[in-house]
Amino acid sequence: MKRKGKLFPDARKDIRVYLRMIRLLNRYNPGWLVLLLGVLMDGALPFVAIWLSSLLLDALYAGRPVTQMMALALAGAGVSLVMTALKHFSVRQKNVMWWGMQHRMAEPLMRKTMEMDYALTENARVRALRARQDEYRKKERDVFERFLEQLELLLAALVRLIFSVITVWPFFAGQLSGGRRETALFTAAAAAALLFSLLLNHWSVRKQGARRQAIHFEHEDENRLNTYMMDEVVLSNEAGKDIRIFHQQRMMESYGEQMNRNWRRMTRQYAANDIRHFGLQGLLSACMGGIVYLYVAFCAWAGSISTGSVVRYAGAVWQFIQAATDLSASWNWLHHDRMQMDEYLEYLDLKNEMKKGTIPVEKRKDGRFLVEFRNVSFRYPGSERYALRNLNVRLNIGERMALVGRNGSGKTTFVKLLCRLYDPTEGTILLNGVDIRKYDEQEYRRLFSVVFQDFQIFSFSMGENIAGSTRVDEERAMDAIRRVGLEGLYRKLPEGLRTMLNRDFSDTGMEISGGEAQKTAMARAIYKDAPFVILDEPTAALDPIAENEIYTGFHEIIGKKTALFISHRLSACRFSREILVFENGNVVQQGSHETLAEEEGLYRKMWQAQAQYYR
Ligand code: ADP
Repeated sequence: MKRKGKLFPDARKDIRVYLRMIRLLNRYNPGWLVLLLGVLMDGALPFVAIWLSSLLLDALYAGRPVTQMMALALAGAGVSLVMTALKHFSVRQKNVMWWGMQHRMAEPLMRKTMEMDYALTENARVRALRARQDEYRKKERDVFERFLEQLELLLAALVRLIFSVITVWPFFAGQLSGGRRETALFTAAAAAALLFSLLLNHWSVRKQGARRQAIHFEHEDENRLNTYMMDEVVLSNEAGKDIRIFHQQRMMESYGEQMNRNWRRMTRQYAANDIRHFGLQGLLSACMGGIVYLYVAFCAWAGSISTGSVVRYAGAVWQFIQAATDLSASWNWLHHDRMQMDEYLEYLDLKNEMKKGTIPVEKRKDGRFLVEFRNVSFRYPGSERYALRNLNVRLNIGERMALVGRNGSGKTTFVKLLCRLYDPTEGTILLNGVDIRKYDEQEYRRLFSVVFQDFQIFSFSMGENIAGSTRVDEERAMDAIRRVGLEGLYRKLPEGLRTMLNRDFSDTGMEISGGEAQKTAMARAIYKDAPFVILDEPTAALDPIAENEIYTGFHEIIGKKTALFISHRLSACRFSREILVFENGNVVQQGSHETLAEEEGLYRKMWQAQAQYYR
């Protein structure tokens, strides 16, 4: 058992993982089983030839009529033909499945990514897992393609192994038990020699794979440089301007040389490893061939088998050897690929930890919602520092509120907590007096329309971007467009709301500017029609005229909703009734612009610092 453990390390865990991969494969590619038909045919086909030639030879030696032999040959050819046709049918189905497989197997990843706690998406390990999947997909075949490829080889080898044992076994058993003593001894010796060679071969394949993996890890950091150079420098359009202006050619060349040195060193190590083991495996294969032919010749000489049987048994034993070596090779590949599979499955198995409540959110026509932060403190996962500390704030519906403060003072974090992207580390957030963790998460999120600083505009249609859905209420979308002042852009769209943005999928797609993108994101927030509208630096990408339009039209844009906006431009804060001044994760001042501008404190300092530019 221990020995087996060494030859097939971790075999049980391996098999468990493969079975799970197969279940996933089956769920998303129900047609994959047709592949087994091909595997079966592939494994069985060589035996048709082996059996046919042996039967023909025996018939020839026995002096059977030529018609009988022709019938035999025809039957053999017919069987081969049918099997080959089945195999091709399976290959065709497999190819059809293969093309879309990468995307289908991305589906569980996509679902998981969209459904996991937001906090997880920012977790370092989770990011690393995702980056790795991305890396595999870009560089090589992705995890399922590799898995299926090796599984196919493994199963085909298994089929051949089974057929060869079935073919050879009666003879082997006969030689061991029924024949002369020398024959039995010789048979046992040949079998032992073969088995030993196979084990040695397996050992070599395993060593070769382990070393290959070790080389890969040894050079992992260098490979990161290589990928970076290829993606960001060699094939990058963006780097061109800086390279010219700052004369960076020399620097790039020196890193390029380093990259080439890395490649050379690594490939030399790979080649040395391969030559050593391929050499040994070749030698073993030759030895095994020698043993088989010597043995079969001996049997033929001793008169214990017919000429036809010589062909059949020699062929079958040879298939056995090939199948066993293939089996050990694909087993090893699968074993070494298991790390990728583990990572894929680890990602799918990530557990959501945020409490999921069930209480529905009260549907209030009057929109009276009161949100309260009570002694809220928060640290980002894995961080020692508090991003918010002992915060107490009340937000009333219908109010305009501005959050101001230096970079890193906690404003965006406050918004993330408010929308329940994170839960507080300490303290509670209440909606109409109830802890927000008790509400149904989806319902609670419906209350908020947020334009984050790093909002995303997709290269889908304008309408879809605003509606956040493939079903677009055109009237509502147009209203949102008007309110944020995007009519100018709208008039330029050749297909109206159906015009694709950017050129990723459509040659006639509309490239939009940073400011237009920001307004589109705002239109999306208006379209959602949630009671709370939150804008994080809503005008950073706008020109001063557009910015002024936004702020003067703010009341119209927001309507009766509660609006919260984060801005560095204090002039914009004058439009809000209440201003919260953040400093080091806390609200240090609160009040209207007029009162705060009079009060001694951070707000006045910031206001004066900015005002001097406008005087
Ligand atoms: P502001 O919006 O006022 O500029 P933030 O709320 O973005 O400030 O950041 C508050 C603090 O939290 C900063 O010190 C920032 O570095 C830290 N922080 C923000 N996002 C993360 C994160 N995902 N992980 C760890 N720390 C973060």
